[in-house]
Amino acid sequence: MKIFELDNKYSSRPIVYVDLDGTLADMFGEVARREGAPHWRKARKIKDRIDQVAQDPGFFRELKPLPNAGKLVHGVAKLAGKFSILSSPLMSQVEQSSDEKADWVNHYLRRFPVESLVFDHRKEKYARQEDGTPNILIDDWDSNIRLWEANGGIGILYRDTEVDRALKKLHYALEGLLPVEESTENDSDINTTDVKDKLYTNQQVLKYVKGIHHEYHLEKPILKHKTWVLTNVNLDDLKSPEFYDQDDPYRRVIDLDWDHIDEITTRDILRRPVVADDNGWVLDGNHRVTAARTKGLDSIRALIPYSQ
Ligand SMILES: [Mg+2]
Repeated sequence: MKIFELDNKYSSRPIVYVDLDGTLADMFGEVARREGAPHWRKARKIKDRIDQVAQDPGFFRELKPLPNAGKLVHGVAKLAGKFSILSSPLMSQVEQSSDEKADWVNHYLRRFPVESLVFDHRKEKYARQEDGTPNILIDDWDSNIRLWEANGGIGILYRDTEVDRALKKLHYALEGLLPVEESTENDSDINTTDVKDKLYTNQQVLKYVKGIHHEYHLEKPILKHKTWVLTNVNLDDLKSPEFYDQDDPYRRVIDLDWDHIDEITTRDILRRPVVADDNGWVLDGNHRVTAARTKGLDSIRALIPYSQ
């Protein structure tokens, strides 16, 4: 549900968080240059290569600011008075990348009122203050913005070429004029009645699966992907071990309990989405998938890794 604030009713002032890579620092341009790719959008598609290139010592420290980075931080400082940096460190080099990013900020933003530097993979944790005041995130990555908004914050999806639009939106947000997604404690749980595609973190998906099975053994394939989407998936695209029993990558031996399958209702299937990896292998819900097949359904609600 969207609520519209006509006055600034927040109990505190929103904290403005600004992302680094792709927002202030030209990471994709640098990767494209190193990879000989014509454009960063091409480089984005080779995520593994980005991670590899970014592991080189000095990579983050030596990034060039994006053309409008100065204009953005000037504008943010003017509107908000001060701001914070919120950046995700490289998974494989948390300390090295965080140190280099801090050096970058100290070099390029030394004249700006940077209140704090936060390096965290889970940006959405900072979406709201303890008293419920929504914070603002300016970030170039769609899934960061969507998770931020899902957790009650105000997201501004950023492109370096759209600095004026972003600052206008920030102005409205600080005046309390932007819609805020209502968020309650329960929103962190998987909401199976929501028909729209919705994003979840890997921790939320794991919590959901563990709520169904007390002993769950396939944690790694869930934790491997930071963001998941709840969506409709064609049953033909899902693979469960009993169906393709020869090449299950997780080497499972699953004895399907057909008494249990017969008891699964369509309502059960709708209420409890299954979880599948990016190749369609079912990580949780083999019985529900099989029951759906016996009922002749074409598609099923499933949590799958999100890629934009
Ligand atoms: Mg970014």
